[in-house]
Amino acid sequence: MTQAARKLVQEHLAHGHQHLSADDEALKARIKQLLIDKNAVLVAHYYTDPVIQALAEETGGCVSDSLEMARFGRDHDAETLIVAGVKFMGETAKILTPHKKVLMPTLEATCSLDIGCPAEEFAEFCAQHPDREVVVYANTSAAVKAKADWVVTSSIALKVVEHLSDQGKKVIWAPDKHLGSYVQKETGADVLLWDSACIVHEEFKAKGILDLKHVYPDAAVLVHPESPESVVELADHVGSTSQIIQAAKDLDNEQFIVATDQGIFYKMQQEVPTKELIIAPTAGSGATCRSCANCPWMAMNALDNLADALENDLNEIHVDPALGEQAMRPLQRMLDFAKANL
Ligand code: SF4
Repeated sequence: MTQAARKLVQEHLAHGHQHLSADDEALKARIKQLLIDKNAVLVAHYYTDPVIQALAEETGGCVSDSLEMARFGRDHDAETLIVAGVKFMGETAKILTPHKKVLMPTLEATCSLDIGCPAEEFAEFCAQHPDREVVVYANTSAAVKAKADWVVTSSIALKVVEHLSDQGKKVIWAPDKHLGSYVQKETGADVLLWDSACIVHEEFKAKGILDLKHVYPDAAVLVHPESPESVVELADHVGSTSQIIQAAKDLDNEQFIVATDQGIFYKMQQEVPTKELIIAPTAGSGATCRSCANCPWMAMNALDNLADALENDLNEIHVDPALGEQAMRPLQRMLDFAKANL
C-alpha cells in the first residue's frame, strides 16, 4: 500500500468517515433526535461498524469492551439503553440495571460462544463436578451466568482465576476453550474446559501471521486470547480489546499485526493515528466464517435497525427477574473484584 493510500485508510478508520449517503446522514440525524426524545444513550462495542461507534461518541454514549459497556450503562442517567453489540451484552445490561429499558437494534445478533453453551447441558456438566468453582465468560446467556460462581471478561479472566487458584480452588471454565486454555497455561490453575470457540478468532492462522511478519518484520503482533494457541504463541502482547488498544499506545512499534475483529481499528487508529494497523490473516477461502475478522453478528447492527428500535421501542431485552438476580451475583462479584484489583 502506498503512503497516500495508507493515510486515506487511517483517516477513514480513525474518524468513521464513511462517505455516508444522504439517507444514512438522515438516519444519523434521526437517531440523534430520538436519543434526546427518549432519554436514551447508545452503548456500542468495539466490533460494531465504525459509523455506529462514531455515533455513540458524538452523542455522549460509549464505545468499549463488554465490561465497560455494562458499567457505563449502569452508571448513566438515561432511562433507556440502546445496546449495539450482541445479545448477551443487552442481557448483561438488563441484569445490571433491571429498572432501565434496554433495547437492541436486532435480537438476531448472537455469538457462537453463547450458542455453544446451552444452559441445561452446562448445568449437567457443572453437577458432575461439584468440587469446582464455576467461572463463565461474559459471552454467555443470562441462564448460564445464573449457574456460575463468577462471570469474567477477557480483561479480568487471568486475575480472577489466579485469585481462585491461590485459594487452592479448582475451576470449570466456559465456554471459550482457547481463552480457557490460555488462562490455564498462564495461571497454572486446575481448569476443566468447556468446548466452544469464537468463529471469528478461531480463523486466525499462525502461518499467515508468520508470512506477514516477513513483509513487516518490525511489526508487533497483538492477539486476543480467543485465538488458537498457535496464534497466541506468536504474540508480542495478548489481551482483551481494551488491552490491545493500550498495547498499541504503549509499544514503540510503528506497525501492528492485529488478531481480533477489525472493528477495533476505529478506536485503535484514533489512539495511534500515525501507526499502521494490519489485520492478521485468516484461513481465507478455507475459512468457516463468512466474514473473517469481522463478526457477522456484530455486523447486524446498522443505522436503520437502530433508528427503528429506538423509534418504536423494538427488540427490548427481558430477563426473568429471578434469573436476573441469580445472574447478578457472579456479575457483581466480577465488578467488585475489578474495582479492588484493576
Ligand atoms: S467476535 Fe466472536 S466472541 Fe465476539 S460476538 Fe462475535 S462470535 Fe462472539
